[in-house]
Amino acid sequence: MPFRPVRLLLPIVLVTVLLVPLAGSATPLQQLSGRTMGTTWSVTVAAAPGRLPALREGVQARLDEVVAQMSTWEPDSDLSRYNRAPAGSWHPLPAPAAQVVDAALALARESAGAFDPTVGPLVDAWGYGPAGPQAAAPPPEALAAARARVGWQHLRLLPDGRLWQPGGVNVDLSAIAKGYGVDRVAEWLLGAGVESFLVEVGGELRGHGRKPDGSPWRVAVERPAPDDSRLDDVQLVVRLDGLAVATSGDYRHRDERDGRSVSHIIDPRTGAPVTHALAAVTVLHPQAMQADALATTLQVLGPRQGLEWARTRGLAALLVWHEGEGFGSAMTPAFAGHVVQP
Ligand code: ADP
Ligand code: MG
Repeated sequence: MPFRPVRLLLPIVLVTVLLVPLAGSATPLQQLSGRTMGTTWSVTVAAAPGRLPALREGVQARLDEVVAQMSTWEPDSDLSRYNRAPAGSWHPLPAPAAQVVDAALALARESAGAFDPTVGPLVDAWGYGPAGPQAAAPPPEALAAARARVGWQHLRLLPDGRLWQPGGVNVDLSAIAKGYGVDRVAEWLLGAGVESFLVEVGGELRGHGRKPDGSPWRVAVERPAPDDSRLDDVQLVVRLDGLAVATSGDYRHRDERDGRSVSHIIDPRTGAPVTHALAAVTVLHPQAMQADALATTLQVLGPRQGLEWARTRGLAALLVWHEGEGFGSAMTPAFAGHVVQP
């Protein structure tokens, strides 16, 4: 079972992979693919064709493991069992799940709660969680009850992976586990002796090594066009040499509540979906897990505060926001440093 079985509206593809023809290469590029977390995965590798079935199986097994541990859409996952654990209990998590919770808590602290892994009750209240879609905004009592259960300060994680369940806390790792899955696959491929690959899960990518022709993995990050109906042909090309890219965007994939457009990203500090003008955020980071979670964090912080927050931390981020009939955009110096000429 995925993290989110069906998207209410399809996300736009902001990042596309640039593959050049490889005539004459000794090891051709091969593509493996499958399904996970309510979306698709793909891995492009330079490997002998005979290795492909085992590699495909290995990648799927790694992603299945992430789902079995961290999906809130899977009732038997370790995380779902934690979420149902009795009040006042220490619940053991497998090391990978504990590692992701640890990273999520660190980011919650650093962002003063803009990112919050305990946001689950609010995600459900607004109809984006396993509880299913909602036609209307939650009534004030339901919202207050959900908010009372949210707050990363309620969590305590021990070095041995036990997580404190004070009662009613519902951890949601959907904004970080997809990126973790990309990292997990990348590390597994490295361990399997694959030296050149591009891993993608639901639009989050991480590249390693060089293609057989010696060129780096490259992606084009597209900016939305002013008329909201197509993608601009303005492309920023980024090299993914030991780097991951994640995009969080509500551009054209919002949902309706009471006739109003609503984002699936919640501001845990207000209890409501984000309402500011950010259309898309793209983050580059060596770890896909961090890129994924940071993109969500910047969505919550919004264009002005988000840009400043990312800039002061030396993060590589590109923000695109609605401006009048069109769009405005800005990137941090660290992002600009990764942009190459096409
Ligand atoms: P997508 O998966 O669409 O790329 P994200 O990575 O931004 O988007 O993850 C969005 C999901 O994260 C939501 O569906 C919800 O489950 C969860 N979420 C929403 N708001 C927050 C938040 N402020 N902090 C942490 N997780 C959040
Ligand atoms: Mg994210």
